[in-house]
Amino acid sequence: MKKITLLLIVLLMSAMLISAEGEKIITQTSIVNAVLKGLYDGEMTFGDLKKYGDFGIGYFNKMGGEVLALDGIFYRIKSDGLTEVIKDSDKTPFFTITAFESNTDNFTNRKFDYDGLKNYLLNMMPRKKSFYAIKIAGIFDNLDARTFLSQAKPYPETKQVLETQTEIKYTNTEGTLVGFYTPEFLEGIGVPGFHFHYLSKDKTRGGHVRTLNVNSITIEFIEISRFQIVLPKNKEFQDADLTMTKSMRKSLQKFEKQ
Ligand SMILES: [Zn+2]
Repeated sequence: MKKITLLLIVLLMSAMLISAEGEKIITQTSIVNAVLKGLYDGEMTFGDLKKYGDFGIGYFNKMGGEVLALDGIFYRIKSDGLTEVIKDSDKTPFFTITAFESNTDNFTNRKFDYDGLKNYLLNMMPRKKSFYAIKIAGIFDNLDARTFLSQAKPYPETKQVLETQTEIKYTNTEGTLVGFYTPEFLEGIGVPGFHFHYLSKDKTRGGHVRTLNVNSITIEFIEISRFQIVLPKNKEFQDADLTMTKSMRKSLQKFEKQ
C-alpha cells in the first residue's frame, strides 16, 4: 500500500513537471533560410514580438545590426558595437524569443574556449532534441563579436553582407550571453546548435559571438519542447525558394558560425 502511495506521488509530481515545462514555448519569426535568400525586410514589429517573451536574439530590419532581448529590453547592436534601445515600431526579419525563467544556477571558473563551453553545455542538457534557452553571465577574458551594416535594396547575398561585417574584440569583459540551442534537424528553419549574442554589463556594447574565452560564469538554462513559427505573408517570402540545398547549408555555416 505504501509503495502504491509513493508511486502515485511520484507520478503526480512528474505530471506537474511536464505541464510546467509544456507552458514554455519558443517563438520564431520567419526562417533562417529566408535570410540566406536575402529577405532582409522585417514584417513583425518589436512591439508585436514582445508579446512572445522577454529573452531572445535575431536581426534588425535590413540586417542593420544584431539584436538581443534581455529582461524585456531589446537592444540593437550597431556596426560600431554600441547598443541602442529599439523602438516598438522597428521591425525584425528573423528573431527567436521566449519568456525566460530558470531555476538552474551553475557557476564555473573553468577556462573554456567557445568549443569547451559548448561541450560543457551539451553535457548539462538532458536531451539533445529539445530547444534550450541559455543565459550565461560572467567575465570573459576575450570575446570576439560581429555585427552588420544596414543593407540597401536590391539586397546583396549574405556572402557580401559577411564581407562588410564589423568585428569587435572585447578583452576582460563582463556581461551576459543570451542564446539558444536548436536541435540539428531544424537546420534551415532555425540556426542549428548553439547561437549566442553578447551584451556588456553596462549594456552599452555587444554583438553576435564568434569566439570567446571564459574566466568565470554562471549558467542558467531552460529546456523547451514547444516551438512555433510566425511566417511572413509578404510576396518576397511567398515567391522565394526556401528549400535547403548544399550551397544554402554552406552559407548557413559561414553566416552563423563566423
Ligand atoms: Zn547571431
